[in-house]
Amino acid sequence: FKVVSVDKLLPLTHYETDILEAIGATVEQYNCVTPEEIEKVAADADAIITVGAKITREAISKLKKCKVIGRYGVGIDNVDAEAATEAGIVVTYVPVYCQEEVATLALTLMLACERRIIPANEIVKSGEWKSALKASAGARSTKGKTFGLIGFGAIAREVVPLVQPLQVKVIAYDPYINLDFCKDLNVESVDLEYLLKNSDYVSLHVPLMASTHHMIDAEQLKMMKKDAILINTGRGALINQKALCDALNQGVIAAAGLDVLEFEPPDPEDEIFKLNNVITTGHIGAATNEALVRLRQKVAQGVADVLTG
Ligand code: NAD
Repeated sequence: FKVVSVDKLLPLTHYETDILEAIGATVEQYNCVTPEEIEKVAADADAIITVGAKITREAISKLKKCKVIGRYGVGIDNVDAEAATEAGIVVTYVPVYCQEEVATLALTLMLACERRIIPANEIVKSGEWKSALKASAGARSTKGKTFGLIGFGAIAREVVPLVQPLQVKVIAYDPYINLDFCKDLNVESVDLEYLLKNSDYVSLHVPLMASTHHMIDAEQLKMMKKDAILINTGRGALINQKALCDALNQGVIAAAGLDVLEFEPPDPEDEIFKLNNVITTGHIGAATNEALVRLRQKVAQGVADVLTG
């Protein structure tokens, strides 16, 4: 078999090649930007692996032998899956590899916002040791607070045991909630309005769909407590970012910790970057060494499984 990795966003490592060479495949690495370059290097490939390179209908039509396209990550946005299916090519991806990482980041953002870690760090590094207390003024104890999870899927359920040692009460809203999970994890199932009105921390863990686009808008922000902190490690467009900026400017809520933004990559001049009460991390939710190894191995295994039938 010939396996071609078409872009270098994640250059191949032994984690992929060990698995692919074990089924007798030769593996080649390229750095394609255009569909034409992909056609050139992959026309006779049995499999393609991609991170972000666009695998278009046109590129797919030029693949003579390809049986499988493997995508690093939880989605297949850059692959024309319809064209691939029509051509009899299986598209594999990695839906499960980083739940723990995203949950840990949600906790980290929440604590960093609550304890004013970034302003304190900045002031101390600027030589103003004595001003650190002022920079972190307003921080509250987590004990006795309420942590609201919007969405109670795999990542949200990883968040629960991370935050419970902070002695918070955990509540969750999910229209498809599994009450057995709630009971096991000591989480109360509530409706969205109750969650927004009663949570000190609100953390988003739902997929972006037409029905969840801007599910947090001016109206929902107004329902939240004045000192509430909003955390988003889901997808940026779950929140109307303009409405969030207004709410943060006007003291409608206290702060936001955002791994994801409505438009990525964002405009560097975006208002969100001018707000002191916002932490943004640039979509790093999945980024730990361990998750990357899991991702690499799962991509390679998915491709190997299809090639060996
Ligand atoms: P999941 O499918 O296990 O859970 C999603 C939950 O959302 C489900 O329980 C579903 O019932 C619920 N839901 C659907 N519509 C809802 C609504 N309108 N209101 C409330 N709940 C609703 O997914 P997951 O693994 O927990 O991941 C959640 C999201 O996290 C993903 O969709 C993805 O967008 C995001 N994510 C981000 C990163 C990152 O790097 N920041 C990495 C992985 C995933």
